[in-house]
Order: sequence, then C-alpha cells, then structure tokens
Amino acid sequence: MAVLVTGGAGYIGSHTAVSLHEAGREVVLLDNFSNSSSGAVEAVRALTTPDMAFIEADLRDGEALDGVFQRYDIDEVIHFAAFKAVGESVGRPLDYYDNNLGSTIGLAKAMVQHGVERLVFSSSCTVYGQPDTIPVTEAAPTGAESPYGWTKYMSEQILRDACESLPLNTILLRYFNPVGAHPEGTIGEDPNGIPNNLVPFVMQVAVGRLEKLRIFGSDYDTPDGTAVRDYIHVVDLAEGHVSALDALASESVGCTAVNLGTGVGSSVLEVVEAASRAVGTPIPYEIVDRRSGDIEKIWADPAHATAALGWTSTRDLDDMMRDHWNWQRSNPNGFAV
Ligand code: NAD
Ligand code: UDP
Repeated sequence: MAVLVTGGAGYIGSHTAVSLHEAGREVVLLDNFSNSSSGAVEAVRALTTPDMAFIEADLRDGEALDGVFQRYDIDEVIHFAAFKAVGESVGRPLDYYDNNLGSTIGLAKAMVQHGVERLVFSSSCTVYGQPDTIPVTEAAPTGAESPYGWTKYMSEQILRDACESLPLNTILLRYFNPVGAHPEGTIGEDPNGIPNNLVPFVMQVAVGRLEKLRIFGSDYDTPDGTAVRDYIHVVDLAEGHVSALDALASESVGCTAVNLGTGVGSSVLEVVEAASRAVGTPIPYEIVDRRSGDIEKIWADPAHATAALGWTSTRDLDDMMRDHWNWQRSNPNGFAV
C-alpha cells in the first residue's frame, strides 16, 4: 500500500516524502510543476530511493487522477497541491479558486470512488486571522482575508461536509510558518521571483541575490515592535504528517483540525538575529511601513497536536536558520541548474 502525496515536488511535500520514506511508507508523488521542478523529485529520490514513483499531472485532470488510483495501491493521501501566494491571489482570484478548490474536490471524489478513506489536508493558520486569544487553539473562530485564505477556509468546509456523509476521514493540518530545510541541504524552499516570505528573503540577502531586507513595521504592540509569528522547522512539520497518517490509521476521526506549530512566537528582529548567527555576518535591513493585510502576532497552542497525534516539534529557531542557510548556501539559485 502507498501514500499519494499531491504537490510532492513542492517545499513541504518534498520534505514530507523523505519523512514518510524514513517511517517505512511507500510513497507516490504527484505534481504538475506549476511551482516546482523535476530537480526536487531527483533530490528526494537521492535522499530516499531511486524507485520512488512520480506522476506529472494536474490534479484537476480527472482522467489522470483515476489512472493514478488504478495503477497504484493507494490507501492514504496527503494533499499539498495548491497555489499559495496571498498577494498573488488578490490579483488572480479565479485561478486560485479554480486550482485550490478544483483540486480538493476532484481529489476527494476520486478517493471516494476508489474507496480510499484517509486524507491529510494542508490548511493554514491564516484561517485564524488575528485571533483575540494567543496562543491560538483549534476552537478559535475562523475566516479569511484573501482569496488564498478563503480557498483554505472553503476547502476545510468542503472536507468537513464530505466527511459527514461519505466514507472519508480527514485531518486538517493548520500550519504556522514553515521554514528551514532538510539537514543535508539538498532540498529546500525555492520560491519563484522575489520571495514574499521573510526567511527566504533573508537568506537571499545573505547569499547576495538581494541587497537588504525591508522589515515591514516596527510599531506593533510586541516586545520589540516587529510582528510575531510561530516559525516551525519544515522537518518537524513533515514528521507531523507521518503522525497524522498514523492517527488516521488507528481510529476514525471524521474531520478534525490540528495546529502544527511550536507554541513559540518570534519577532521579525529575532529571526534576523538568528539568521545572522547562522550566516556568521549581520543581515542588512531597513525598517519600512507595515505591509497591508499583515497581522500583529500569532502563535499556536500545540497541545491538541500532542494529544491527538502524539507529535511535538523538537527543532528551535537556530536549527531552522542553520538548515535554511545550509540549503541556500549550497544552492544559491535553488534547483535551477
Ligand atoms: P509549494 O508551492 O512549494 O508546493 C505546492 C506544489 O503543488 C507545487 O510543487 C506545485 O507545482 C503543485 N501544484 C499546485 N497546483 C497543482 C495542481 N493543480 N496539480 C498538481 N500539482 C499542483 O508550496 P508549499 O509551501 O510546499 O505548500 C504546500 C501546501 O501547504 C499548500 O497547500 C499551501 O497552501 C500550504 N501551506 C503552506 C504554507 C507555507 O508557508 N509554505 C503555510 C501554510 C499552508
Ligand atoms: N516580513 C518582513 N519583510 C519581508 C517579508 C516579511 O518584514 O520581506 C515580515 C512580515 O511583515 C511578517 C513576518 O515577516 O510580519 C512573516 O512574514 P511572512 O510573509 O513570512 O509570513 P506571514 O505574514 O504570512 O505569516
């Protein structure tokens, strides 16, 4: 039996493929390379087994998906494939709804048709917006502030409804801010164009691709005035997916949401300091105005993840920066040759 990993050539999917292999699972990767490249698949195979199956397909292609379920003995699915850039989603809302909702619906239908019941879905802490209470628990109210955010919110609802009446069990994993890379430095985050996210931007400054970081706002109600997030090492996150599949295999959960975060909040300046320690030289930066739509502070209450999945994060901010830097330094241009 095998686990189908959609978006398996992407940042989190590639790391999860490695963790799944290490946990003894057979893995089938699927991706359409809309935000990734075959170099990631080769790097995953080099870290695991040259035999790891890969299918190049668009998840919205029902025929191709049907073929995947016919060809492989799939009994569990992790669904990463989606467009994920908040800013871009504002300018391309229909593309985001089409891709992210179309993929989720098509996949869930194919699973039901082929009798596959166990699904782990990539959701996001973006569904909490700025919560009133921090650390945030899964019981906090949810909503969205961008088309991307709505696709996560709506996908959660679609899967909740599907699990009510169809033979499906789903864990909705709400990720906080994944950063870092596999310690070997051969897979990692490889954003297209100028990175929107903090850590990839910082690392491209460190490697000389960008001149300096712009810190968006220093007048927040936080200890140093910069915004606070819960950064989580991508390998911890990957291991959380293995734990989620184990939980699904041992009991019928229906549809349940679980935070994957560390429970530790770090400010932008704390990230910059940790990155400077990892790199060995200060990261140049300037403070500019707040970025519109940013929230002030959020970090996870990870207690439910420990109770429901037996999972807890083990890597700290210095580990994240060391491994992210190791990847960036060894691959200054990502997977591009
Ligand atoms: P990524 O872009 O690196 O990986 C997503 C992969 O899905 C890409 O390789 C892309 O080519 C593929 N893909 C997209 N649409 C597809 C389709 N229709 N058919 C087949 N393949 C398709 O992103 P990531 O950072 O690895 O994120 C994975 C998931 O986690 C996404 O659902 C994202 O929304 C979610 N998430 C990410 C973050 C983050 O900060 N990275 C935070 C919260 C949630
Ligand atoms: N940030 C920044 N400069 C950048 C990118 C991000 O100061 O070039 C800040 C951003 O304002 C936020 C934090 O870093 O407070 C994390 O941003 P990111 O986009 O990585 O994650 P998100 O805001 O989606 O949680």
